[in-house]
This record gives sequence, structure tokens and C-alpha cells, in this order.
Amino acid sequence: MHDTSEFDSELFRTVISQLDTVAARLSLDVNIHERLRYPRRALVVSIPTRMDDGHTEVFIGYRVHHNTVLGPTKGGLRYHMGVNLGEVTALAMLMSWKCAIMGLPYGGAKGGVRCNPSTMSRAELEHMTRRYTAEIILLIGPDLDIPAPDLGTDEQTMAWMMDTYSMTQGKTVPGVVTGKPLILGGSAGRREATGRGIVYALYQAARHLSQELKGRRVVVQGFGNVGGVAARLLWREGALVVGISDVQGGIYNPNGLDIRQLEAHVAEAGGVAGFPGADAVSNTELLELPCDVLIPAAVGSQIRQDNADRVKAAIIAEGANGPTTPEADAILRDRGVTVIPDVLANAGGVVVSYFEWVQGLQYYFWRESEITARLQEIMSRALNRVWGIATKEGTDLRTAALMEGVRRVAEAFKLRGLYP
Ligand code: NAD
Repeated sequence: MHDTSEFDSELFRTVISQLDTVAARLSLDVNIHERLRYPRRALVVSIPTRMDDGHTEVFIGYRVHHNTVLGPTKGGLRYHMGVNLGEVTALAMLMSWKCAIMGLPYGGAKGGVRCNPSTMSRAELEHMTRRYTAEIILLIGPDLDIPAPDLGTDEQTMAWMMDTYSMTQGKTVPGVVTGKPLILGGSAGRREATGRGIVYALYQAARHLSQELKGRRVVVQGFGNVGGVAARLLWREGALVVGISDVQGGIYNPNGLDIRQLEAHVAEAGGVAGFPGADAVSNTELLELPCDVLIPAAVGSQIRQDNADRVKAAIIAEGANGPTTPEADAILRDRGVTVIPDVLANAGGVVVSYFEWVQGLQYYFWRESEITARLQEIMSRALNRVWGIATKEGTDLRTAALMEGVRRVAEAFKLRGLYP
């Protein structure tokens, strides 16, 4: 195996260790295993951006395609200070397994810009997004690579990307991104898709464990697109959401938080802190709160060797990508905690992105009820398939999910052969 040091990062080491474990379990052909350890292509760009005060700031951005063996690539775009080539490459690899597990005709990709979007004005974000899009334009397109929102990006980011790409083509090309605003060809239910998918996955897992979600105590880290929607839907289903956090810190009320009131508070105060009737907790304390279900839905490497044995939840549904390190995974496995892994739990976003892409290509749009019914069917089927593999192989859900994803990608590699 060759040196992969240019991709070195904590998350890359995690995903490589996961791949190596699964390859051994699957007795994967060594040549295919070797090919899977590298991205197909990785582009690093500088993004000179006109700032409001007149100076030019240069940001660094990335777009990585892990593999294109099942079709065009698909993956989010992240704006965060922690973005680097290693992290983006690892996330692209996770997208490959995720798409394969869900049976979608995509390879994995990811993009990112190292920046702090919360300190940038709307105009600065627009300038940066448009220039980033122009810099990676060779790599994207409706049948090539289709970005979507992720940490720090949203529908507006996708609208700017779609417009920039369309301007270079002389026509509107809605299929170049997903997660667009509805009026620009977005899909009903896309905004809620990842959070909703988590809830469907939790439903099935609870069914396998002969439990129900109603009345269960839930803690959610992150109150953005993923965590916010998951918290709202679980609260509506009768779960007791006892703890929630965002980047500034968390809140806790053992009797449950009223999510509708919390949303109103966040809209006014800008964060969950200071919500009346709740105690302040740090993000570290939040993960260790007494609860039945923990949903890490913020950033990676939150559950680690040093805190995994203090996590009290019996079920963890990974909304974020890579929130659990391999060392923590082993501790949780030994403790009998059920971890629904990121590649499965948070796949609702890419599933509805797929629906959006298909609708955009056909210029024919479905009703929200059709979207949620199809999402529920795909999430439930995938969870049940993975649960079956885990039972048969006597392994945890992450290993089982990755076995399914890696096996499918490897099979496609084998059938297509090696060019030239
Ligand atoms: P978002 O930007 O909408 O929300 C992120 C939330 O996490 C915010 O509440 C933010 O304050 C909080 N946060 C940021 N840094 C934190 C930290 N260090 N500690 C605690 N909280 C922190 O992002 P999102 O779209 O909800 O994505 C969240 C996670 O879910 C990411 O890991 C992303 O890769 C993953 N994910 C997102 C989607 C999607 O469709 N949006 C799909 C799959 C996976």
C-alpha cells in the first residue's frame, strides 16, 4: 500500500481504518482494496474574494471525487474553519459507501472551503461561493458531480452555485446541485430529509430492539438543519428531548424542552443558550447527559476514547459525519450501545437529493407525501438490510453497513475492470 500522507487528517485515518477492517472481513481483492483507499481526483483551489471593506481575501477550497464507478458523484459542500484536504477526502469516501448502501447510482464526492461563514456578510459569501464554483466548474455538472449543502452552507449557497454554473452554459441547469430553494427546482421535503431520515432509522432500530420512541429521552448535539429537524420531529412523535446544543453551548431540562418555543428563542437570540427553564451545559457535558438516544448532529470526532465510556445513551444515531472515533466505537460496542452509523443514519439527505436530481432532469415534480413515503421505504429497507447483515455476521451496525457499501462498490469495480 502506498503513502497517503497528503490526505492525512483524523477523519481520513478513521475512514481508512474502517475500510481496512471491512476489506479484511470481506476478503476483498487486494487490487480493488488498494484502489478504494485513494480518491479518483482531488482539486485544490484558491478563491480570491472581494470583502466588504475593499480588501481581497484568499480562501482555500477543495472538491474531491472518491470514485465514479456507479455513476456521477454526489456530496455536500462544507464551509468551516476545520476544512482541509484530508477531511474532504475522508468525507468523499464516506459518501461512496453511503450512496452504495442506499442503492443510489452515485459515487462519493465532497467539497469544502476553509472559512468561518458566521463572520462573513451575505455579499462576501456570495462572492466566495461564485468564485469557488467557477474554480471547480470542470469537475461539476448534472451527469458529472452534483454538490449539495452541508455544514455551513444552505439553499442560498446552492442557488448561487446553480446560477454561476448556468451562466457559463447559457441556460438554466437545475440538475447541477441539489438542496436548492423550491422555486428554483428544489424538492419538497429536501430541507427536512436528513433529520427525517434519522427518525425513520431510529424507528426501525427501536422496532428491532422491541422498543418505541415515544417517551424516550433524547439528546441532540447541533441545532442546525440536521439536529434541528430531528429534534422537532422526535418531539412531535412524543419523545422527550432533554438536551440540545449548538456551537456556543447547550441546554438541559430533564422534563423535556418545548422545541417550538426553542425555535422561536433561537430565531431571536441566535442560539439555544439562555432558553428559559433549562440549565446551561457545555458541549462536553451534553454528550454525557442521562438519556436513551443521543444524536450527534454537529461536527466530527465528538465521541472519543476519553468520553465514550461516559456516554449514557443506549442508542446513538449519527446525524453528523464521523462523530465517533474508531477507539470510541470499540468502547461503545463492548458496552452494548447500538450505534446507527452516519453512512446509514444521515443518508436521508442524499436520498432526497437523488429524488430532487431525478425530478430536475425530468422537469416533473412530486408531492411531499410521495417524497416522504419513498424516503421512509428506502431508509427502512436499508436499515433492515444492514441489521440483517450485522446479525448474520455477528458484528456492529457500522461494520455491517460498511460491508454492504464497500461490497457494492467493489463489485462494480470488478465488473468494469481496470482501464486501459
Ligand atoms: P448546520 O450548519 O445547519 O448546523 C450545524 C449545527 O451544529 C449548528 O447548530 C452549529 O451551531 C452546531 N455546531 C457547529 N460546530 C459545533 C461544535 N463544535 N459543537 C457543537 N455544535 C456545533 O449543518 P447541518 O447541515 O445540520 O450538518 C450537521 C452535520 O450533519 C454535519 O456533520 C454534516 O456533515 C452532517 N450531514 C448533513 C446533511 C444535510 O443534509 N445537511 C446530510 C448528512 C450529514
